Amino acid sequence: MSEDLSFDALRWLEQLAQGALAPRAEDIVARAVTLFPGSLALANSFGLEDLVLQHMALPYKDRIQSFVLDTGRLPAETYDLIELWRLRFSIAFRMVSPDAAALEDFVSREGPNAFYQSLELRKHCCEIRKIEPLTRALSPHGAWLTGLRREQSQARSTLELAEKESSGRWKLNPLAHWSLEQIWDYVHTHQLPYNPLHDRGYPSIGCAPCTRAIEAGEDVRAGRWWWERDQHKECGLHTHARKETTHAYPSP
Ligand code: SF4
Repeated sequence: MSEDLSFDALRWLEQLAQGALAPRAEDIVARAVTLFPGSLALANSFGLEDLVLQHMALPYKDRIQSFVLDTGRLPAETYDLIELWRLRFSIAFRMVSPDAAALEDFVSREGPNAFYQSLELRKHCCEIRKIEPLTRALSPHGAWLTGLRREQSQARSTLELAEKESSGRWKLNPLAHWSLEQIWDYVHTHQLPYNPLHDRGYPSIGCAPCTRAIEAGEDVRAGRWWWERDQHKECGLHTHARKETTHAYPSP
């Protein structure tokens, strides 16, 4: 995977990766569209950050491929939200499904709720439903946009606005420095439709069986894979990508 980037474009990306520049998120999205024509993707999990990013990308919706990892186990509210955005903003989301044969084999052998049995089986489920589909969805793209933020977890605290994966693909995180308050301000200012689970104590929403509401004072990630110890709480989407990056790194 390599893009024919000009010297100025490469310099700009490297400066983002080194923390030497801090352009507005909207400007990063706009420039990425021009730098990666026909090759820019947006990974939309329909979390708040991804809604902000998707809204910023609306002027370029025909030039950015927005995709959703349809694990098959998303909450009904998330599917409703996808449909709402699809119709209201006329966005042709690519819905990326797990490999049917691999999923059928896994569920037939281990059962539909294998993730509760062991960390190994949970990771195997994430591999089949998220990681392999993500790898497949990104393969034709030279760059992708994510809604990752530094504040989301310790593992993301050193996140930069850009990272280069060893594959040569650029990962752009235009909201890396945003606070949760800024995210909510943007959502309310632009009256963006968002997942009603956020108003029911779910700050972070993933697959339905692996997400619960949190109590007052709990960490925002406490509701994800709540039965596991904290150090295991990444689905692997970005820890997987970390192995591929040349810069320090860290998903929905
Ligand atoms: S979050 Fe849960 S249901 Fe979703 S892919 Fe991972 S283990 Fe499977």
